[in-house]
Amino acid sequence: MPSQATNFLLWWGLRLSLVAGCLAVVLRSFQQQQQQPLFQEASPKTNTTRTFCYQGIRPSSHSRTIPDACLTVDLATGLFTSDVVPRPEVHGEVEVRKGYALPGLWDGHGHLLQYGEFLHSVDLFGAASAAEVRERLAKYLDGKPPGVGGKGEWIRGVGWDQMVMGGMPNAAMLEEDDRLHGKFIMLDRVDVHCTWVSQVVLDLLPSPLPDGIPGGEIVRDPGPGVFCDNAMDLVMPLWPKPTPAKKRQFITSATKALHAVGLVGVHDAGVLPDDLRLYHAMALEPSSPFTLRVYAMLECPVRNSFCPDLIPDLPPNPHLTLRAVKLFADGALGSWGSALLAPYSDRPTTSGSLLLNASHLTHLVHSWSSPPTSFQVAIHAIGDRANRLALDAILSALASLCPSLPARECQALHRFRIEHAQIIHPADQRRMRDVGVIPSIQPTHATSDMAYAERRLGRERTRTEAYRMRSFGGGLVLGSDFPVEPRTY
Ligand SMILES: [Zn+2]
Repeated sequence: MPSQATNFLLWWGLRLSLVAGCLAVVLRSFQQQQQQPLFQEASPKTNTTRTFCYQGIRPSSHSRTIPDACLTVDLATGLFTSDVVPRPEVHGEVEVRKGYALPGLWDGHGHLLQYGEFLHSVDLFGAASAAEVRERLAKYLDGKPPGVGGKGEWIRGVGWDQMVMGGMPNAAMLEEDDRLHGKFIMLDRVDVHCTWVSQVVLDLLPSPLPDGIPGGEIVRDPGPGVFCDNAMDLVMPLWPKPTPAKKRQFITSATKALHAVGLVGVHDAGVLPDDLRLYHAMALEPSSPFTLRVYAMLECPVRNSFCPDLIPDLPPNPHLTLRAVKLFADGALGSWGSALLAPYSDRPTTSGSLLLNASHLTHLVHSWSSPPTSFQVAIHAIGDRANRLALDAILSALASLCPSLPARECQALHRFRIEHAQIIHPADQRRMRDVGVIPSIQPTHATSDMAYAERRLGRERTRTEAYRMRSFGGGLVLGSDFPVEPRTY
């Protein structure tokens, strides 16, 4: 997601979220239809641990299921405090549940604050026409105080897709409903790489609009109103940002919703310094609602910059880790923004656009990964050109970080990762695998993109380059990119 655009978003899919360490315990009934006995016993003295006993437990270190076994969990940290042990004499209540038990899951790439914001905004996923978008917006407005939709509180929505709507929207389309007339509206595309605004927002922008924006597109057909990638930076500064109190609501709502599907941790793929301070302050509060573990990637207020002075000084906290930074090489496939080595098959006049040039990217990767900052660097790269430049930059940094070590050994120390890693030339797939650069992949992007990926890329490029999860040789980080992906299970 682009940086300013990360200020917002969508719906999410969890599907193959990511397993954190702990003991991988998979529990299933011996007979498929059978219910599963579950015994829970709080530690009688301290009430700080709880023991769970199952008919069968298979730790990741075992090849076979251990029957009638228990494990103990520290209630404060959520971590196992004992190995799997045989079930003691059962005393107390036995609760019977169906199905499987899993340890807490981590999602390897999501956006906590933006997900919360999405939960408090208009869901436009699957809207089949501009009329349906208008209807959903009007319904959202119904009963809201008059200030909503005014200059100080824009209506936000996310999830529209011109491929589903049957054509690119424009500002005038939002005026067609009297209930929306004159409202400040900003709606993010499904991939948050474009935003669609209403006429009064358009009126705030310079006139005439600039001819071209490097790394971005001002959509003019069928009329103004949509801004993509770097062109979104024309609009985002005008949007009245949520207050810290609102952000707390967003974080609290998101946390609850993520826990509800079994997530205990998330790699938060781009967090601004002020928001990191808010996370940290919330994590310190007694009875804090900040109960997820967050591995945060810092995002500089100016996208793709080196901002070590802005790294918040946060005392260690078990709920928040900060030692990574997020950079952005290109946009997304759906909006023709991902940077390709050859033109798009369905738009031969463009190969997408890089959000920064190769030397700038290399410079940033060096600066962030070198002492004294020594951050892990995660680069958003979707197109094969962006992935090639990301790999070039990473290999260059590895060569200077440990000149006497093979690249693979140096990579094991610095753990460079590429976010999305979606379309990669076969030669670069090999480079990635040989060096062990970490591919951070969101499997649901493959199913979300499948309606148009082949049209964009052509058959051969799709076959050899796109969504090649098995070509990277393991070490994948899997995530959902919530709320960019719709909930799919
Ligand atoms: Zn993302």
